[in-house]
Amino acid sequence: MSDANNANNEGLIIVSEEACKAVIDRDSAFSAVENVFAAMANGDAYNFPVIREAIGYADALYGFKSGFDRAGKSLGLKSGGYWPGNEAKGLTNHQSTIFLFNPDNGKLRALVGGNYLTAVRTAAASAVSIAHLARADSKVLGMVGAGHQSTFQLRAALEQRSFEKVVAWNGNKDRLKNLQAVAEELGVPFESVDREELCKQADVIITITSAFEPLLMKEWIKPGTHIACMGTDTVGKQEVDAALIASATLFTDEIAQSISLGEAQHAIKAGSIQESDITPIGAVINGDHPGRSHKEEITLFDGTGVGLQDLAVASAAARLAVEKGEAQHVSL
Ligand code: NAD
Repeated sequence: MSDANNANNEGLIIVSEEACKAVIDRDSAFSAVENVFAAMANGDAYNFPVIREAIGYADALYGFKSGFDRAGKSLGLKSGGYWPGNEAKGLTNHQSTIFLFNPDNGKLRALVGGNYLTAVRTAAASAVSIAHLARADSKVLGMVGAGHQSTFQLRAALEQRSFEKVVAWNGNKDRLKNLQAVAEELGVPFESVDREELCKQADVIITITSAFEPLLMKEWIKPGTHIACMGTDTVGKQEVDAALIASATLFTDEIAQSISLGEAQHAIKAGSIQESDITPIGAVINGDHPGRSHKEEITLFDGTGVGLQDLAVASAAARLAVEKGEAQHVSL
């Protein structure tokens, strides 16, 4: 945000959803998320407590995720939530806007559309985990879930290893067409499979569903697999067997979220793991933790989604939008 601050010191910058798409690609999202995970592990960046409430209107969930990254000079919040009736109106169910403030004086500096950025920063998180934790010789990518986030996840993941095949499962098979289209566009063979078969074939698995019960069981996972659990971001949600969590080497974006509302919440509740069993992925990025220690190890990244990821990509979007003439400037 510091460059954006300098570029337009007096006014407010508005970066639309379209402008975000024009200036933020997967590489810039990956770098922003990797850097902020590293800053979190160094103690340079921290998230504030999350607020998320059912507002008792339109079945909506609404809230705030906020934080400060001293290293990247990003201060602000993402405000938004989930409106389940939106899809029928031709809108995305998840709606959000990111507000960035000047950390030197507290002035509002930028309003940045958060819908596209949420998808690319979430995909960047699993991609960062694959880059740092998956076996170098991973060949088959397994996708569990085929909703809005899934194609973003697939594109980012396919760039991390020389994958030769995608296997995928979704409750409603019709939705797999979206994933198949991306795989075909990128020239990677695609197969629709059941969940057990998916685990048999996949070297890397991404789960990105809204499930409230385990979809993948411990005994199905083969040695050496890396799993990125990205769907569980709320108390009660669950994508994998708690016994799998207890047996894997665990990494996360933020431990406080992982144990309370992330995939690790169930194993924590059962007493089969402790907080100290989970490593922030930033420690691997910083070189303070070796990450995968051998090729038979099952590594699991609990990607809960933190406000600092949003601030990181929004700051990059604000800076690039100013540089590329894509930002609107408003005098306050
Ligand atoms: P979506 O509504 O577009 O898709 C939901 C997906 O979950 C679909 O594939 C659907 O078939 C599947 N699903 C729903 N209920 C299920 C069940 N009981 N069992 C198995 N599959 C089920 O949602 P989306 O935008 O793609 O988001 C997917 C999930 O990711 C949501 O839970 C969302 O809250 C979460 N999310 C996490 C982050 C993060 O940073 N970790 C960011 C954004 C979204």
